[in-house]
Amino acid sequence: MSDKTLESKFLGKLLYNQDQIVNRAKELAKQIDEDYEGEEVILLGTLKGSVLWLVDILKYTTVDTKVEFISASSYGSSTTSSGVVKITYEPTLNLYNKHIIIVEDIVDTGNTLKYLVNKLNERGPKSIRICTMLNKQSRRVADVKPDYIGFEVDDLFVIGYGLDYDQRFRGLPYISYLEESDIEYL
Ligand code: 5GP
Repeated sequence: MSDKTLESKFLGKLLYNQDQIVNRAKELAKQIDEDYEGEEVILLGTLKGSVLWLVDILKYTTVDTKVEFISASSYGSSTTSSGVVKITYEPTLNLYNKHIIIVEDIVDTGNTLKYLVNKLNERGPKSIRICTMLNKQSRRVADVKPDYIGFEVDDLFVIGYGLDYDQRFRGLPYISYLEESDIEYL
C-alpha cells in the first residue's frame, strides 16, 4: 500500500491538522520573541522528526536565530523507545555561551532529551530550553520539563508532520496516530 493510499485512512485518526499546528507554532514563536527579546538564539532541531515543526518556529519567530541540528538514536522496537541513547550527529556550531532552544518532535519518556541536555551542557551554553511539538506527559520517566509545548497527547503512537513509522509518513501535513490494527497493513 502506498503512503498516499494510507493518507485518507489516517485522516480518520486525525489529531491536529496543519492549520492548528501552524497556529500553535505562531503562538509559541511569539512567546519566544518575548522571552529572548534582543538576544540571539540557536534553534537546535533533533533529526529527523522535528524538521517540519522547526521550520514553522523558525518562520514565525522574529528573534535572531541560527539553526543547528543534532541526531540521537534511541534503540528499541519501532514504536517504543528503550532509554539507550547514542548521538549520531553532533552540532558543529559553537554553542559556548549561547542560548539554545532544543526543538523536538515529541517528548515521550524524556530519556532522549535528558541525555541531550546533559551532553549539550558540557559545551557551556548560556541557557537551554526545550520547544516540543508534542508532549506525552503520562509516559514521562526522566526529569525533564519542556518550556514550550505545542500540544499534549495521550499515550498513542503518533505519525506525520515529521514523525515516522519505520521512516515513513514524515511528510503527512497533519498529526495522526496508528493503532496496532493499522500496523499490520503497513
Ligand atoms: P523518549 O526518549 O522521550 O522516550 O523518546 C523520544 C523519541 O522517541 C522521539 O524524539 C521520537 O523520535 C520517538 N517517539 C516517541 N513517541 C513517539 C510516537 O508516538 N511516534 C513516533 N513516530 N515517534 C515517537
